[in-house]
Amino acid sequence: MKLRLSDTLKREKVEFIPKNPKRVTMYVCGPTVYNYAHIGNARPVVVFDVLFRLLRHLYGEEAVVYARNITDVDDKINQKAMAEGVDIDVITSKFADIYNADMTALNALPPTIQPRVTQNMNAIVAQIAALIRNGHAYAAEGHVLFDVESYKAYGSLSNRSLDDMIAGARVEVAPYKKNPQDFVLWKPSKPGEPKWPSPWGEGRPGWHIECSAMIEANLGLPIDIHGGGHDLIFPHHENEIAQGVCAQHGHSHQEESYARYWMHNGFLTMDAEKMSKSLGNVQLVHELIKDWPGEVIRLALLSAHYRAPLDWTTDLLVQTRKTLDRLYGTLREAKRVIETYPLPDGWEIKRHTVDGAYIKPRDDRMVRILCDDLNTPQAIADLFLLRDMLRGEFEAAGPIEERGFHTKAYMDLLIQCGGLLGILQTDPDEWFQGGADDDLSAKVEALLVARKDARAAKNWAEADRIRDELNALNVEVMDGPTGATWKLKA
Ligand code: AMP
Ligand code: ZN
Repeated sequence: MKLRLSDTLKREKVEFIPKNPKRVTMYVCGPTVYNYAHIGNARPVVVFDVLFRLLRHLYGEEAVVYARNITDVDDKINQKAMAEGVDIDVITSKFADIYNADMTALNALPPTIQPRVTQNMNAIVAQIAALIRNGHAYAAEGHVLFDVESYKAYGSLSNRSLDDMIAGARVEVAPYKKNPQDFVLWKPSKPGEPKWPSPWGEGRPGWHIECSAMIEANLGLPIDIHGGGHDLIFPHHENEIAQGVCAQHGHSHQEESYARYWMHNGFLTMDAEKMSKSLGNVQLVHELIKDWPGEVIRLALLSAHYRAPLDWTTDLLVQTRKTLDRLYGTLREAKRVIETYPLPDGWEIKRHTVDGAYIKPRDDRMVRILCDDLNTPQAIADLFLLRDMLRGEFEAAGPIEERGFHTKAYMDLLIQCGGLLGILQTDPDEWFQGGADDDLSAKVEALLVARKDARAAKNWAEADRIRDELNALNVEVMDGPTGATWKLKA
């Protein structure tokens, strides 16, 4: 199946062809770990997690190498460490752990590797040295700068000419720069700040070289896919290309010798403004996961196409919770049907026929939808078609002994397709009881038994009283053909 992706550099949707289908490589710029991630920061994580899942499906789990770095050297980290009077690794290890736990709560698979700047200093120094050797960088007053004039394709990712950049520049003019657009590869640390040895004096790397050096050292060049949020196109990714291309020995100055495909997600907004720390309109993932299942937050992030803006509202979360309740509700009913109509002997053989004829084409359809530039809104709509089919199996006209295994085949299909989006992997009974503690669960189960007994004895007053009690516990009871189930009201 052909995977087509919108490539920022080529400015069109193109077919994705990995350099080596046995080793498909992807790098997504990770967080600078000095405080909590906001939900805008989680958008690239969730979007590229869907791509990671899709690539694993297409090329095999072992064939995909996904790197998401941790930026643990940065001025903001230094400031925070200084303010708290601790070493930077106290700050960075704390917030890297929180970040990873928060992203796991959103069902993001751990990346294959998570390189850290502090563990890649040799590679960074080596890449800077290569840039100087190749005539693309120069040392001046303890700094090393990239010489933008030396790379003719500079600006091609963001589609800007050097003149445009200078005109609209907010760049630091410094006496040691040949050109105001030249950017820092290495700089001296201020007194008291962490520093590392280099041929140009003790200091620390610039942000852009951190990523391009970690990519070369950990994945090898060229990588297949490089991703991140839209705001990283300029200057971060523009500078990464310049470094990654120019550092290569005998390079041909082909932009694709660094990364073959570039992908960028649109912004998460609040009231149409980009969510960002500087604007102060952020919602932290760490807080949101206390109030909402991670799966709700995840699906909300996937409800718009990744390139489009997405406005973050409580209503979006409420609606997404309902979406998941409907899907899980059907899965729970399916579970009951399978319990009621057990699978017949030899069902695996029959299942094979059903899978070949009905299940595989539907599975393929879901993969095809995602292969169209990760069309997650369409994929979510398709889950509802699969849900309708599954419901159809509950009352299918066919022989009663086949009802269980037909239901199981369609139930597995829905779960499998959900898995590509990273949802629907929880047991449905657990889903509806999520949020209820054990004491409450025990109490509700006991009330449901008492209610059933009262109804059997036609004691309607008692049954009503129990219903009121359940209401007071904020529990919604759903009576189905195979008994009552319950959930906490949203
Ligand atoms: P930062 O920590 O600001 O470097 O951001 C980490 C990642 O989150 C980068 O890929 C950013 O492009 C992305 N990002 C930051 N803010 C938003 C937002 N409001 N919407 C979508 N992505 C964002
Ligand atoms: Zn980066």
